[in-house]
Amino acid sequence: MDHKPHCVPLNDGHFIPVLGFGTYGTAEIPKSKAEEATKLAIDAGFRHIDSAFVYKNEEQIGRAIQSKIADGTVKREDIFFTSKLWVTFFRPELVQPALETSLKKLQLDYVDLYIIHFPAALKALEKCKDAGLTKSIGVSNFNHKQLEMILNKPGLKYKPVCNQVECHPYLNQRKLLDYCKSKDIVLVAYSALGSHREKNWVDQNSPVLLDDPVLCDMAKKYKRTPALIALRYQIQRGVVVLAKSFNEKRIKENMQVFEFQLTPEDMKVIDGLNQNLRYINCKFAMDHPNYPFTEEY
Ligand code: NAP
Repeated sequence: MDHKPHCVPLNDGHFIPVLGFGTYGTAEIPKSKAEEATKLAIDAGFRHIDSAFVYKNEEQIGRAIQSKIADGTVKREDIFFTSKLWVTFFRPELVQPALETSLKKLQLDYVDLYIIHFPAALKALEKCKDAGLTKSIGVSNFNHKQLEMILNKPGLKYKPVCNQVECHPYLNQRKLLDYCKSKDIVLVAYSALGSHREKNWVDQNSPVLLDDPVLCDMAKKYKRTPALIALRYQIQRGVVVLAKSFNEKRIKENMQVFEFQLTPEDMKVIDGLNQNLRYINCKFAMDHPNYPFTEEY
């Protein structure tokens, strides 16, 4: 069914590579690192790149992509590029100009996927798709009730193709994943390696996912690393997974996710690690009526 290797179909006829490169660098990291890392990621074989207006790195990511097109490594159509609409541009008349501004910084004519970063109405995004500025539209951080609301909206023109949410063995999103699958919406996992653990976003006392003894033992068994086990887990359960690294060795390592398989028994063992632990809970937005994380899923 896949028309490209390591891709899954979206509900609008396009395809998304199952492994994506995360480009969010914490505040103290120079933005030039994102440019360098994106080039390394394309060289290593990543063809899906995840960015956002709010990461403040669109110029750097755009330059990295242009340079890899210029040196013949890829063509524009080989890259699946995602950007996201930040909350300050949710008013309908600001949506298309926000995407146009991002495209200009990125030096791109279109993005493959434009995602609404936090729960809000989707209408204005449909217009961006009609204008050819994005191939697909999706959502992020929606709970199942918020998805249901969007899907039941009278006059819905395009279903979101994906819901990008935090997802890893400690927050495996089983119910949300089942719900998304039932609606033909792809779940895209962010913080699949346990998040960037930036002080302002993540409780520093929370357990470190990649130190988990079960993942570490399994890594030994498969002669891989805990990170690879965490990434492989997602791909085998039908989740598209993002992995951020600005380190050449780890960027290359993460591509090895296609070189091995977990047994069904080990998949169940990893399922058993779930503890509904959310690293990025955006507590500052808790009083907002659309705050998504008080629902069970
Ligand atoms: P993540 O992918 O969970 O990675 C966390 C850390 O793991 C990275 O800082 C990286 O450090 C390290 N790492 C990477 N590969 C490794 C390996 N093989 N072994 C050991 N450590 C490894 O990070 P994330 O940034 O939270 O999430 C990934 C992406 O999802 C983001 O970059 C962004 O694109 C997206 N995201 C979206 C949202 C949203 O609201 N939609 C929220 C958060 C994130 P090094 O760089 O030092 O390797």
